[in-house]
Amino acid sequence: MHPEVTRAAVLREFAAPLEIADVPLPDDLPPGSAIVRVTRTTLCGTDAHLWQGAMPFVGLPIILGHEMAGEAVALGPDAGRDALGKPVELGSRVVWSESVCGHCHACTVLNEPVLCAQRGYGFAQRADRWPFAIGGLSRYAYVPPGAHRIVLADDLPDTWAASAGCAVKTVVRAFANAGGVEPGATVVVQGAGPLGLVATAYARASGAGQVITLGGPANRLALAAGFGADATIDVTDVTDPDERVAQVEELTGARGADLVLDFAGAPTANREGVLMCARRGTHVVVGLAGPDPAPVPMDVVMGRELTVVGSLNGDVGDLARALRFLSAFADRFDFDALFSPPVGLSGAERAIRDMASMAAVKAVVDPGLD
Ligand SMILES: [Zn+2]
Ligand SMILES: [Zn+2]
Repeated sequence: MHPEVTRAAVLREFAAPLEIADVPLPDDLPPGSAIVRVTRTTLCGTDAHLWQGAMPFVGLPIILGHEMAGEAVALGPDAGRDALGKPVELGSRVVWSESVCGHCHACTVLNEPVLCAQRGYGFAQRADRWPFAIGGLSRYAYVPPGAHRIVLADDLPDTWAASAGCAVKTVVRAFANAGGVEPGATVVVQGAGPLGLVATAYARASGAGQVITLGGPANRLALAAGFGADATIDVTDVTDPDERVAQVEELTGARGADLVLDFAGAPTANREGVLMCARRGTHVVVGLAGPDPAPVPMDVVMGRELTVVGSLNGDVGDLARALRFLSAFADRFDFDALFSPPVGLSGAERAIRDMASMAAVKAVVDPGLD
């Protein structure tokens, strides 16, 4: 028997303290569902935006956190296999994807579950309605039937695995949507937050010849260098977007970059990204430019025959590849440097504020701790 309630940090009012409260857990488990004891939750910029009230249409109360790893403590009928066919047993360490419906146009015709019309994201689930607890700032979480699980390799730390649940899989999909990295290619990464830093490592691991990372502040760019950036541009120093484009031009021998990935989500990022591209280059849009973006010069897209491609989060395949990447390059990159020491549920609000203020690259919560 799994517990009937779970202790959780609940968001009842935007930008207000989280309330530590007991939230019900579903008692009857539908086929394919599970209950997991959450062992680690890593926070994402979206959690901070949600907390601040930047998405006011989200119905409260909710439990924030959508990057987590845990241990299965209860399994509904037909929940005994993961997405790769491995057995899931009580005590199995798992991560899981957002739930998808499996029968909409995106799920079936497009075969792109990331675009599922009914994709079940944590913030779409109110904590006062069944199944109550699917967010990460909770001691236990309900895993819906359509959320594919992946059993973790023994040597993969919970914290790394949790971060695959949004940040790392988003990076993996962005590179995949770009068609990968040609060996020796020049790659520009816009942004030195968690996504930009992981992307820097991913570009290096993918065989890029030159990796240039833009972002700030300086401590994050030092991390970028550790993750394989050959050059960094501090956007807090170089505040003129055109000057940043000129610096990339200079660093690439006036040719521009073969691949420019936007993980910055700044109003000028996509204009800069296109201008930084070499002829026949590709610009991948991952960041959200906000309500007032700088116009993207479409004449440059035409004249250089550029490819501009969008990329949204990641599906269970991207999640599987993200875990594989972290395992395969565990010795090459210091992934631990991304993460703050874990705090308990009572520290979750502080951790979210640290994400909002950029004091933490990736704040970490162990919901088992008070
Ligand atoms: Zn996220
Ligand atoms: Zn669907």
